[in-house]
Amino acid sequence: MTIKHVITAGVLSALLASCSAAPPSPKTQQAALPTIGTSGHEDSQKPAKQFFGAKSTGSEQAAAPFGSYAKGCVAGAAQLAETGPTWQAMRLSRNRNWAHPATVDYVKDLSRVAARQPGWNGLYIGDLSQPRGGPMLSGHASHQIGLDADIWLRPADNLSLSVAQRENISSVSLRRNKGAFVNENWTPQHEAILKAAASDPRTARIFIFPGAKVKLCETATGDRSWLRKIRPWFGHHYHFHVRLKCPAGAEGCIDQAPPPPGDGCADAQAWVNNILNPPPPDPNAKPRKPRRELRLADLPVQCADVLQSP
Ligand SMILES: [Zn+2]
Repeated sequence: MTIKHVITAGVLSALLASCSAAPPSPKTQQAALPTIGTSGHEDSQKPAKQFFGAKSTGSEQAAAPFGSYAKGCVAGAAQLAETGPTWQAMRLSRNRNWAHPATVDYVKDLSRVAARQPGWNGLYIGDLSQPRGGPMLSGHASHQIGLDADIWLRPADNLSLSVAQRENISSVSLRRNKGAFVNENWTPQHEAILKAAASDPRTARIFIFPGAKVKLCETATGDRSWLRKIRPWFGHHYHFHVRLKCPAGAEGCIDQAPPPPGDGCADAQAWVNNILNPPPPDPNAKPRKPRRELRLADLPVQCADVLQSP
């Protein structure tokens, strides 16, 4: 098996829910990877989310992501502490504050940057992954290999929120006009935090609504190379989504293709134009097939061990 497989970006035609941010992957490459399906596992044909959704702790294994962002699992995940000096994990009942240790480190580092912003004392952290990654019983197509993190756009001014408060408090939306523009909640602090997040070499992509990307394109000064990693996407107006690259030496971890060269500002403007003036429906468009639910058989073969490990 080759050390790393790169999936080329697919078409962006599928209208995906918030955080279903992984492009479809070419079947030819999937076929080349050993899966649980090729190993004759007795539960192969059952929905994978049942198994991964039932795990309450990480596996006692060396940390490793297996597979791709929307089809895989994570061994040896670490749990982000529910409260730290510069962060709080939100919605603890979901038990999704688990991730590859590299992601936990990243989130802590970014929260320290956020804590230096006026009005912010750190970050409110949304979903990372389930304790062993994998498909979820609800929400998210991605977040499966412990390298995705949702970060609230609400300024984390109070880091003493109780567990109950963190169940009930809401983030704030920054969008106006269906995501074509930012609203009055947008601040220069948001730009500073997004710039820090995107400038980090560990980051592969950041997903946020189109109007936010266009706003950044208008206001960013100096080195603008970080804008390349900020990608417009559906939803993502209460939180932004950070996707990290596969950690160095992570065999079996499948990187997404890098974003196209350039700052991506024209592309973001095209998204905005489509929101403001939706193109007429294509009479020849084929109805989209609903995404097939992942079975255990679809996942990388290592994910069987991840599930079985204590
Ligand atoms: Zn997300």
